[in-house]
Amino acid sequence: MAQITFSADPNASLSVTDLHKSFGTVEVLKGVSLKAREGDVISLLGSSGSGKSTFLRCINLLETPTSGQILVHGEEIRMKKDRHGDSSPADPRQVERIRARLAMVFQSFNLWSHMTVLENVIAGPIHVLKQPRAEAIEHAKEMLARVGMYERRDYYPTHISGGQQQRAAIARALAMKPEVMLFDEPTSALDPELVGEVLKVIRSLAEEGRTMIVVTHEMGFARDVSSEVIFLHQGLIEEQGDPDRMFTAPETTRFREFLSNTR
Ligand code: ADP
Ligand code: MG
Repeated sequence: MAQITFSADPNASLSVTDLHKSFGTVEVLKGVSLKAREGDVISLLGSSGSGKSTFLRCINLLETPTSGQILVHGEEIRMKKDRHGDSSPADPRQVERIRARLAMVFQSFNLWSHMTVLENVIAGPIHVLKQPRAEAIEHAKEMLARVGMYERRDYYPTHISGGQQQRAAIARALAMKPEVMLFDEPTSALDPELVGEVLKVIRSLAEEGRTMIVVTHEMGFARDVSSEVIFLHQGLIEEQGDPDRMFTAPETTRFREFLSNTR
């Protein structure tokens, strides 16, 4: 596909320009740019190993990009390079702030097992957002009700199903009042009969106008819910565009092949 000239957009909720990431000598992301405006739902597709998780992890600073620019509503994430040329975030307090604004939901739920569902949800608001405990609990209850987990708020993660754990993880992300939600294959670790309940919650968040980037293998979801689809191949955007167009008339051979392998 023709390379689109890309410029950073300080008004976008999230603007990523020319992101590169190498692990040692292996370049996993080779210049990826993306813009999410308020209310956008971007589905990120690609075969295993194409760099989808690395991209999300770089945005949220779980990995440090090798180069590139990330703006979160105009705030630039500042990086520094050491004398070996390795980059790291310049300001650890900024990292915490950015992570709160870009809450991530992982494939493997990642709830703290020694805490109840409610305790999981209030931890970030209390420790990162410095909310008073009572206020954090009130808000957490609302978010748990939102995902249908209010009744299970005093359970420990090992005593609830995977679908319930993932819905609790979504409530935990929501409790941070994030600007953009990042989902990394949120239903891939679930038994098939539990996928629906989690997709339903994510769909309802999209319908509510939340800005999100969703790495998914659920093609029906990508087609119905997203405002834009991005197909990554070996660390580069191979094709992107309107979901209806992408699914009915894929332009690149690689995306066409990807679709025929997933159907
Ligand atoms: P995807 O999520 O699309 O399956 P990933 O972003 O997980 O792909 O991985 C992309 C490539 O980067 C893979 O080849 C993977 O082995 C490599 N990779 C990911 N994380 C690391 C790491 N921490 N160290 C070295 N290589 C990594
Ligand atoms: Mg992945």
